[in-house]
Amino acid sequence: MAVIDIIKKAETKHDLTRQEIVELLKTDEHDAELFAAADRVRKQFVGDEVHLRGLIEFTNCCSQNCLYCGLRQDNVKLERYRLEPETIIEFASKAASDGYKTVVLQAGEGEFYSREEMLQIIKSIKALDVAITLSIGEKTREEYQAYRDAGADRYLLRIETTDKKLYEKMSPGMIFENRVRCLHDLKELGYELGTGCLVGLPGQTMESLADDILFFKELGADMIGVGPFIPNSDTPLGDATGGTFELSLKVMAITRLLMPDINIPATTAMEALNENGRMLGLQSGANVIMPNVTEGDYRRLYALYPGKICVGDTPAHCRSCVTAKIEDIGRSVSQGYGYRKKAAVRSMAKTVINRKLEIMQDIADVVAMNKEIGLGQDIAALVETEKYKQCEDFATKMNMELTVIEQKVPDEAKRAYRIRFKLAMMKGIEVFGEPSLFLQWIDKQADAFGGEAWRCLITSAEGLQKVIDELGRISESNSQP
Ligand code: SF4
Repeated sequence: MAVIDIIKKAETKHDLTRQEIVELLKTDEHDAELFAAADRVRKQFVGDEVHLRGLIEFTNCCSQNCLYCGLRQDNVKLERYRLEPETIIEFASKAASDGYKTVVLQAGEGEFYSREEMLQIIKSIKALDVAITLSIGEKTREEYQAYRDAGADRYLLRIETTDKKLYEKMSPGMIFENRVRCLHDLKELGYELGTGCLVGLPGQTMESLADDILFFKELGADMIGVGPFIPNSDTPLGDATGGTFELSLKVMAITRLLMPDINIPATTAMEALNENGRMLGLQSGANVIMPNVTEGDYRRLYALYPGKICVGDTPAHCRSCVTAKIEDIGRSVSQGYGYRKKAAVRSMAKTVINRKLEIMQDIADVVAMNKEIGLGQDIAALVETEKYKQCEDFATKMNMELTVIEQKVPDEAKRAYRIRFKLAMMKGIEVFGEPSLFLQWIDKQADAFGGEAWRCLITSAEGLQKVIDELGRISESNSQP
């Protein structure tokens, strides 16, 4: 397919194959068309407003050693700082007074604050009526849960690269699978999830960048940050070539085309390579800017890479400067919290419609299946009863369970398995009357099958059939006088 047609496909279908993404990344012939398409999609899906997130870099301490990063533990040249909780809250309070509706708390990896300190910081900032984004690295699920309960709304955790080998080479001691585990935990805990990648790492390929973009989509991330790798002379990669502004912009634009309604920042690192980088980012698919609201020399000391912008500025100056630039390109600063609202509403509507279609299909399948295996019950009549309609929660729970179990079922058997599963569940409701009683029975041990709970049997079609047979037997004995 011609590159221009790939761009058209991405703009209309929001879907590309890995090879098509690679084609786009490899050529710069149609970059103008790519950026214009990403800008149109941005306008159509998230509008002209730009969300400002006030960034507080609250400690430059880090216990990790990523080869590309100036904050790495082994960088002894860097003067370290750790802001007191009161100072962090004070910076956040000033940001809220300056009109920021989101505060981003960013730090290196490690335990430089106790959980109690973090909880106190989050709760105090939440009381300022702002959304809170955390960007504090890999934690346990339990810790993520505690921060979420305390009021954190979003979490940024860039995967940096989905090439496992490259990831573990760039970040010695860090484990790729744990990074992915963190992302899944955060998503499941209800955070708005942000991730992203570094463009231009040594050894990174276009195929690998294409994989990154597809990973973002598959993960269902709500925010994606793409930044160029800028070599830092105080790191082992000081002499590396580094990434380019143009390629970073392309990765960002393709991400917008494939994920039309997410939030995408025009990253500060882009502006380190191009003096108008953030505005060009906003005109190529981005809709978020993260001005620094950290005060004083801490801005300079949070030295991820050289050439960081605005290190000598005040938060007030940054705010007015960036607002003027946004207005200059015909856009406006949002007054809202900047959640991914539209997507949430759309996806809820889609889920409801899909669920209804699925239920209708299942009913038809179950009736056919019922005839086929000759149970003799009128399932079609059953699903019309008030009792079945009251089982919506149960059906939802079972649907979730089905999704998990289905992952273990081979593809070719999925449809038959799915029907059999639904049939067993409906039969169970019919036999036990109450969903809760049926669930109790499922968890009971089945003596005839080696003492396993019935629940263990429902993970295979064969086991499901045994469950259905047993339910038929119970039904029969119940109906005997
Ligand atoms: S990239 Fe993050 S984890 Fe790695 S050294 Fe820098 S701050 Fe630490």
